[in-house]
Amino acid sequence: MYNIYEVVSKLKNEHDIDDDSLRFLLENQDIESVLFSEADVVRREHYGDDVYIRGLIEISNYCKNNCYYCGIRRDNKNIARYRLTKSDILECCDAGYLLGFRTFVMQGGEDGGFDDNEICDIVSSVKSKYPDCAITLSIGEKSKESYKAYFDAGADRYLLRHETACDDHYQQLHPQSMSLKNRKKCLYNLKEIGYQVGAGFMVGSPFQTIDNIIADLRFLQELQPDMVGIGPFIRHHDTPFKDFANGDLHLTLRIIAIVRLMLPYALIPSTTALGTISNDGRELGLKAGANVVMPNLSPSAVRSLYSLYDNKKHSGSEAAESLNLLKKQVEHAGYRVVTDVGNVKR
Ligand code: SAM
Repeated sequence: MYNIYEVVSKLKNEHDIDDDSLRFLLENQDIESVLFSEADVVRREHYGDDVYIRGLIEISNYCKNNCYYCGIRRDNKNIARYRLTKSDILECCDAGYLLGFRTFVMQGGEDGGFDDNEICDIVSSVKSKYPDCAITLSIGEKSKESYKAYFDAGADRYLLRHETACDDHYQQLHPQSMSLKNRKKCLYNLKEIGYQVGAGFMVGSPFQTIDNIIADLRFLQELQPDMVGIGPFIRHHDTPFKDFANGDLHLTLRIIAIVRLMLPYALIPSTTALGTISNDGRELGLKAGANVVMPNLSPSAVRSLYSLYDNKKHSGSEAAESLNLLKKQVEHAGYRVVTDVGNVKR
């Protein structure tokens, strides 16, 4: 029999935790209240009640990849494609800066329409206009040279979820042309260059087992990323995974709490996907240990086109311009939104 307090204490001493103890946390919903309150204590020790906000700019929905789960995959012919210009992106940053955002996250599909010079030009233009802001990129797998060029141009952080740490599962989610080996190599290259690096995975992706999740947690222990993105898988009607069930809210929350206890310093977003599967998903994510939210700062005309999954939220508190609503939600959960660049506190 397991005692939740003993398991939590092993988890805090990350190298002590055995697979069966992790399985106990992952498989039992009735230990949630203790798990979440322990995670909350640790998040407050490291970050107080601060919640960092990031302005998410979805720069392109063109993608050369064909991930089976993703609505902007190459073979989805049913969406209109768009690519923002540098001036569109700068306008988003102007609006975001006035609202209090001090981090801009530029995310997009793997779009060959942007070459490295263009990415560097966008990054350096935003950085020279807003030197007090951090720039996060999330534009997929690139060569080490490309990552270095973006870093030298002024990018500070890079988000690249590993998606799953098991080879077999990776191949069930992606076509042959993609490999976990390369994804991991990219993450280590990013770290070596000096980025604050974000990894992460979807909860409840098709074929995922509890053993897969344990492997994901082990990979996070090994990589020691600064940021960890965890959200439920949500089906998209125009993908090969259209008939699979969505990920589970409670399992997602338990994994957020486990990651908070394992990597106390981590920046963990309460994701849009969490807010999409449940109306109070974002608040629950914060209460389980998350300390970041990423409202949508993309031009409103393109928001519905960045359709990674069905019913993706981009209005209300998910919209950057409704920051007051978000602030109220965050306060209701017991925290407060701060105007801060929000670097990792190692
Ligand atoms: N192209 C970049 C990359 O590969 O990292 C960034 C964009 S990609 C669409 C961002 C993330 O969206 C992925 O890492 C994936 O975990 C998440 N995502 C894609 N489809 C999803 C789905 N159906 N449900 C939940 N999350 C999804």
